[in-house]
Amino acid sequence: MNNLKEKVLKANIFLWKNNLVYGTQGNVSGIERDREIVYIKPSGVPYEELDEGKIVGVDLKGKVIEGNLKPSVDTPHHLYIYRNIEKVKGICHTHSKFITVFSVLGISIPVITTSHADVFGKEIPVSKYVDNTSDNIGREILRVYEKTKSCVVILKNHGLFCFAESPERASFYALMSEYFAEIFFYTLIAGKILNKKIKNLPIKEIEKWYERYHSERYGQKK
Ligand SMILES: [Zn+2]
Repeated sequence: MNNLKEKVLKANIFLWKNNLVYGTQGNVSGIERDREIVYIKPSGVPYEELDEGKIVGVDLKGKVIEGNLKPSVDTPHHLYIYRNIEKVKGICHTHSKFITVFSVLGISIPVITTSHADVFGKEIPVSKYVDNTSDNIGREILRVYEKTKSCVVILKNHGLFCFAESPERASFYALMSEYFAEIFFYTLIAGKILNKKIKNLPIKEIEKWYERYHSERYGQKK
């Protein structure tokens, strides 16, 4: 059994079980940097039919080197990120509902709760609109990442890209991004009805929460 392939499979199933993907859309990949092989969801295969044998292995140029199925049509965007951000080992792409609402509006998700501060420590930015030809999506994600250092980026009129140190972490980021987008959506509506102004958490508070969550004080010893 291939460990990374199994992790990529599980991270894809995680999206489906958490209602972050619809139909056959969305995908997670993971890279073995030593072997320069990227494992990714096959194109157009329903999540309920996915198994380890259907996960496709491609090289960094997109050539299939493992498996019989065609890789996701989003593979070039994943590869662009792997080629340009060395520390990334897992990437996730979704069109989850609340994230997509803000992608249409072109509005970033601000840090209004301590749980958002914990996980990301910064707002979730929105890219410019780009089409899906050539490396347009990859290039735009990289541009936003370099400007904001955010590992989650909302693609204008599209959805979300998350990248992390593993495929499971990337899909966890997709779950949390959707949750923060939903909270922001309802806060906007309730704020409007009740005539209340929404205030972001102060930077100092955001830093405090982020630092604790990412220190050994949070969670169990590894
Ligand atoms: Zn998409």
